[in-house]
Amino acid sequence: MQKLTLVIHGGAGTIVKEDITPELEKAYLNGLTDALNAGFAVLEEGGSAVNAVKAATVVLEDNIIFNAGRGSVFTKKGVQEMDAAIMDGENLEAGAVAGVRSVRNPIELAMEVMRNSNHVFLSGKGANDFAIKQGVKLEPDEYFFSQFRYDQWKAIRDSDNYSLDHTHQGIEELLRDKKFGTVGAVACDVNGNIAAATSTGGMTNKKYGRIGDSPMIGSGTYANNETCAISCTGHGEVFIRAVAAHRVSALMEHKNMSILDACNEVVLKKLVEMKGEGGLIGVDNQGNAALVFNSAGMYRGVKSSDGTNEVAIYK
Ligand code: ASP
Repeated sequence: MQKLTLVIHGGAGTIVKEDITPELEKAYLNGLTDALNAGFAVLEEGGSAVNAVKAATVVLEDNIIFNAGRGSVFTKKGVQEMDAAIMDGENLEAGAVAGVRSVRNPIELAMEVMRNSNHVFLSGKGANDFAIKQGVKLEPDEYFFSQFRYDQWKAIRDSDNYSLDHTHQGIEELLRDKKFGTVGAVACDVNGNIAAATSTGGMTNKKYGRIGDSPMIGSGTYANNETCAISCTGHGEVFIRAVAAHRVSALMEHKNMSILDACNEVVLKKLVEMKGEGGLIGVDNQGNAALVFNSAGMYRGVKSSDGTNEVAIYK
């Protein structure tokens, strides 16, 4: 029988137990569990992988402690600009948005692009116009505001630094605030179809309309029934240059690697060589999961019809 699997992440980086209070740790684990349950319920009802990854991602976007949707990080100009992508491994259809504001659930807008436009990737004002046309839910700026993110940004806004939302990059203040994360999900459904979704506020203090790997098909997000579905998190510039998500797929296709071996090769070898901190989650069409990271931690969870049901943060 086909194994149903849902895997999620809530960001990777310098996430260590000493920096996280027991209350916050609990909030993360609960947030991950809620998202796993929401996505897995879709699979159990016979729903598609693409609907399952969307459902899990929406729950994470709505949760203020993760860097996506509500609670996204601040740009250099002090606003939130969000990126998201979704891909369906059954037909290689994909939708992505970058630099969108006011959209409550960027992953829903990415889904609209995939299903109801002739395009794959929309950005900025055009993407927002499309959101209005499609009737996607919008929210005022206050909805996206979180004090933690604001303080995190305040600590580096006068510098030229930009930062992973949970990683220390030489700015003392950030050490206290490296706690939140980009989100993503991958799933395998009852028909052996697989899909991937990723959503993020990007990196704190980003400027010039910077876009990371998350919405780029093949870099931060990729799905192909023949190989794997992948969602990445980490230092986007390096993941883009490594074409990280598609690299996993290529290793499976051309070198016959298993999902786990291919993910290990990309995250623990290639990205380490390129100094790319972060991790990824993957699933193949048999429902085999991989959760691999080269950082201190990654907010993550996996649930399968074989009884697996786990959420974790640290190594
Ligand atoms: N990969 C994301 C970006 O570079 C950041 C993250 O994963 O936290 O925009």
